[in-house]
Amino acid sequence: MNDVAKLLRAVSFAAQKHAAQKRKGADEQPYINHVLEVANLLANVGKIEDYDVLIAAVLHDTIEDTATTAEEITNPFGETVSQYVLEVTDDKSLPKAQRKQLQIKHAPHLSNGAKYIKLADKISNIRDVSEHPPAGWSTERRLEYIVWGEKVINGLRGVNVDLEKHFDELILKARDAIEKS
Ligand code: NDP
Ligand code: ZN
Repeated sequence: MNDVAKLLRAVSFAAQKHAAQKRKGADEQPYINHVLEVANLLANVGKIEDYDVLIAAVLHDTIEDTATTAEEITNPFGETVSQYVLEVTDDKSLPKAQRKQLQIKHAPHLSNGAKYIKLADKISNIRDVSEHPPAGWSTERRLEYIVWGEKVINGLRGVNVDLEKHFDELILKARDAIEKS
């Protein structure tokens, strides 16, 4: 399989796995929109050309949020892609507060590929928290999410100037928009 064929296979695989899922915003966007946004940010903001990173971005929430095993990823997409996805997968057996602390603790130790994906994932989520917030989230909770996201990202800086600049500009705008809402 060539790189483009593998990327499209990943898009199709992720679309099927996330088919029944919606984002938490009131507009209930299809979940696949989020993973495509993450891959798009990597290619068009981060100028990432490494197909393993782009493919892993498309697949980054499959193990965490759908019934998908690491083997289903390793077999068609390879060990490197599978490793990136596992690096950005939270252990759902742990309480949420602990998972959030572990993201901060683990961020500096991720591979560069996983750091890129984490950056784009936080950009996408913080944009959603600003523009399409989950139902019932107070202003404080939305601002808290940004504070936490910034802590995760501060632990992995120095890998991609464009994504980091995009993140920094976004959190300024998002804080402003949430405080005014
Ligand atoms: P969640 O982890 O429940 O939700 C955020 C995650 O959901 C994102 O990281 C994203 O992950 C996914 N997601 C899906 N749709 C959206 C969307 N439209 N906008 C943003 N994210 C979306 O919430 P928290 O991160 O807040 O975690 C819970 C924590 O919140 C607890 O640890 C507790 O400390 C705190 N809390 C605070 C409250 C308050 O009022 N201040 C009340 C209750 C809890 P992905 O990329 O995987 O899709
Ligand atoms: Zn995600």
